[in-house]
Amino acid sequence: MALDHTWYTEQWAEQGAAISLKIRDKVHDEQSTYQRIEIYETETFGTLMTLDGLVMVTDRDNFIYHEMMSHPALFTHPNPRRVLIIGGGDCSTLREVLKHSTVELAEQVELDERVTRVAEKFFPDLCASNDDPRARLHFADGIEWVARAAPGSYDVIIIDSTDPVGPAAGLFSETFYRDCLRALGKDGIVVGQSESPLFHAELIRSVHRALRSAGFRDVLTLNFPQCTYPSGWWSATLAGNGRPLATFREDDVAAKRVSTRYYNRAIHTAARAAPQFLDELLR
Ligand code: SAM
Repeated sequence: MALDHTWYTEQWAEQGAAISLKIRDKVHDEQSTYQRIEIYETETFGTLMTLDGLVMVTDRDNFIYHEMMSHPALFTHPNPRRVLIIGGGDCSTLREVLKHSTVELAEQVELDERVTRVAEKFFPDLCASNDDPRARLHFADGIEWVARAAPGSYDVIIIDSTDPVGPAAGLFSETFYRDCLRALGKDGIVVGQSESPLFHAELIRSVHRALRSAGFRDVLTLNFPQCTYPSGWWSATLAGNGRPLATFREDDVAAKRVSTRYYNRAIHTAARAAPQFLDELLR
């Protein structure tokens, strides 16, 4: 198939694979202090945001990722009131978190203010909760933020980061996870995006090791489809020392007070199942 300027293509050289989305138009292109931010209008996936040439968000499939980054952790914690989001500049994780009536404060610490300003313009739906009185948007380095956080100040920390390179690399480190553990209260849970089970299984293993070395006794990786991310298959890894991560508030999920399009009780249950190769790698 011939690819030309009407296709956005992201190649994963090491994997010998790529994804292409047919585009109508490129509507924004800027180099911020931290990264290149581009916005396209696609034929079938709505608006697309890329950072440094990598897909971050499309209108069509972002709900899967953002719901899985937020609801499993929030429905595992017995009473999540104070939530910290690291990264997440498109603000969709924030929107999901604020659907929980227990949440009194949701702080988002995004390194690059431009990502949020561009998202506000091109993804207004994702940013619909930015003015919620419980939301606080900060533009700072999440690693430094957590290092300075008061002990026990959050119930859930969500690491909605870019890939583990550049400023996001430290968000996958034992030192950072130790700071997260200190910043979490009783029953606290940290959850981070942990890349593709198929392409990045070694990274998932290193995340498990780093979390355990940092002092988390319970570590659980959830997997879910994400067709515009490398391999089309993605993961989120949770860690905690409170109630077992294998359990969650199933009745509260089933009551459907939190509206979702992907996440539900059966999805949460199924996402915990580790594929055989990953189970063996993580054992
Ligand atoms: N859903 C996306 C994915 O998994 O591909 C992640 C999207 S979100 C836009 C990632 C954000 O993390 C980016 O906007 C980036 O600026 C931010 N980020 C990277 N390193 C960071 C750090 N150290 N502190 C705070 N935010 C950071």
